[in-house]
Amino acid sequence: MHGTLKGKISLVYLSLVLLIALVGSAAFISLFNLGKAIEGLMIANYKSINAASNMMEAIERQDSAVLIYINVDSKKGKDMFAGYTEEFYKWFNIEANNLTEVGEKELVKNIKNSYKGYIKVFLDLQEVKNGNNVDKAIELYNTKIMPDFTQIKKYLLDLSQLNEKAMFRGKDAATRNSKSFMYMILTLSILAIIGGFITSRFSTNKFLAPISILTQNMKRVKIGDLDQQANIDTKDEIGELAQEFNNMTMRLKQYEQSTLGMILGEKTKFLAIMNSISEPLIVLDNDYRVALLNPSFEKTFNVKEADLIKRHFLEGIRNGEIFDFISDACKSIEAPHQKIFTIKTENEDKYFNAIITPIKDNEAFSGLIVIFQNVTQLKELERIRTDFIATISHEFKTPLTSIIMGTDVLLEEGMGKLNNEQKQFIEAIREDSDRLTNLVGDLLELTRIESGRAIFKFQKHSIEDIIDFATKPFYQKAEQNEINLYYQCDDNLPDVIADFEKITWVLNNLISNALKYTGAGDEICIKASACKDKVLVKVSDTGVGIPNEYLSKIFEKFVQVKDGDFEVRGTGLGLAVVKEIIEAHGGEIWCESKLDVGSSFMFTLAMEGKE
Ligand code: ADP
Repeated sequence: MHGTLKGKISLVYLSLVLLIALVGSAAFISLFNLGKAIEGLMIANYKSINAASNMMEAIERQDSAVLIYINVDSKKGKDMFAGYTEEFYKWFNIEANNLTEVGEKELVKNIKNSYKGYIKVFLDLQEVKNGNNVDKAIELYNTKIMPDFTQIKKYLLDLSQLNEKAMFRGKDAATRNSKSFMYMILTLSILAIIGGFITSRFSTNKFLAPISILTQNMKRVKIGDLDQQANIDTKDEIGELAQEFNNMTMRLKQYEQSTLGMILGEKTKFLAIMNSISEPLIVLDNDYRVALLNPSFEKTFNVKEADLIKRHFLEGIRNGEIFDFISDACKSIEAPHQKIFTIKTENEDKYFNAIITPIKDNEAFSGLIVIFQNVTQLKELERIRTDFIATISHEFKTPLTSIIMGTDVLLEEGMGKLNNEQKQFIEAIREDSDRLTNLVGDLLELTRIESGRAIFKFQKHSIEDIIDFATKPFYQKAEQNEINLYYQCDDNLPDVIADFEKITWVLNNLISNALKYTGAGDEICIKASACKDKVLVKVSDTGVGIPNEYLSKIFEKFVQVKDGDFEVRGTGLGLAVVKEIIEAHGGEIWCESKLDVGSSFMFTLAMEGKE
């Protein structure tokens, strides 16, 4: 029990209580003894003094009785004498049983003998008196009775003084004793106070020392020093606490080592993966500071990792276009963003598709990874394909013109009359030639834009003018098909920076598509409004709509919705060209549609002054 802290504290308290009890008992015993001694002494001496005084009074009365007996009334004197003799012996017996002082016994013996003599002389006096010899009686009184009386009185006085002296002695002794008891209790109290103080101080220090060691150790652990071990070898609760503390720091250290090891291992793996990626890759933090990059990035951008780490992206890579793309992408971190950039190297231009993947830490944006996918070869292939298509399309144009011209001449019957069968046959050739011409036209337009050979005349225009111009050719057809075609432009719309012809082409394409997929009673509406710093144009219809699975790829080349109800009536290139034209304007195009409800095609154009 006393091994525990509780036991130790209890022991200290117990020793203090014992100390107080010791002092208390000593004081009590001393006072008790003192009281008893005083009481004993006082009572015994007082009894003797009182007895002596009463004997004195009795004998004096007897003396008076003797005189009365001689001179006044012998009977009265005799009776009085006898009465006081009884009184005298009563007090004498009390005194004889209360012998406390040295010499008291002898004094009592003398009193007894003298008093016996005094009684005997009184008997002698009675004989003399009975013979009526008064003078002889007086003489006997003077010669015998009076000296005996005086002697007894002297003994009684001695007895009284002896006890008085004893009383004073007792008082002095009690005073002395009480003083020494007082000093003894004072000494014991001082010793108890000193003992209590030393014990409590010693035990407090002893108990608190390990706690302060533990506190110091904990403070060190708090600042990350996990090598702390509390050297406390007591077997009490603090010892247990120290043991637990030591176990805890040991575990923390093991954990730190294992976590650190794991992190280092993961980092090594991560770096190995990064370095093995052949595409240039860079990791930025949320302040666009470089966290990591791989050797391929160093080679492509001709930089050194050591020079770039922790520095802002633009400090190492002086390419504002790429940085703008990165910072724009960070504003909407949800989806990965990608864009193709041309990077000039020593010998040639290289094309890289920059793909941004945001790094999220608990939903918060904490950085990003940018991979530069080398698409130079793909670009080259695309260029070859575009050139090839352009050449082929171009080569198609001349024979197609001849075929159309030939069929026109034949249909106009300039080369002789045609029967109905021949006419139908040639009309089919004419129709297919028209479709082929459209296809070739679209292909040539597309390849021109894709290869950068298309010439755009960007100028400021009122969007309302473009829409008005683009819708005009369609009113008649809309009316014929009982379709309500109209446009709405917000008031005070700023001008757009656009190529009038190309945007007209875009609108023509969107409106003609809308007409193809709407019927009697439907509506086609073209709306223009301001949207942030862009102008938003929306071509919507209440036609058949586009199935969901087509929405994401509707702007790709040759994509056409296969629908049993509607005959495919185009080349599948229109929307691809539309997208190229809008993107060449720096705008965006997208589509929203619901089957049997209708479709909306939206595109944006730069406002004047905001391009
Ligand atoms: P096409 O020359 O075949 O019209 P587009 O590229 O212009 O080629 O259109 C691709 C496909 O998108 C069309 O075949 C059609 O299925 C669908 N489409 C385009 N516009 C609409 C529209 N307004 N309503 C329904 N479907 C449409």
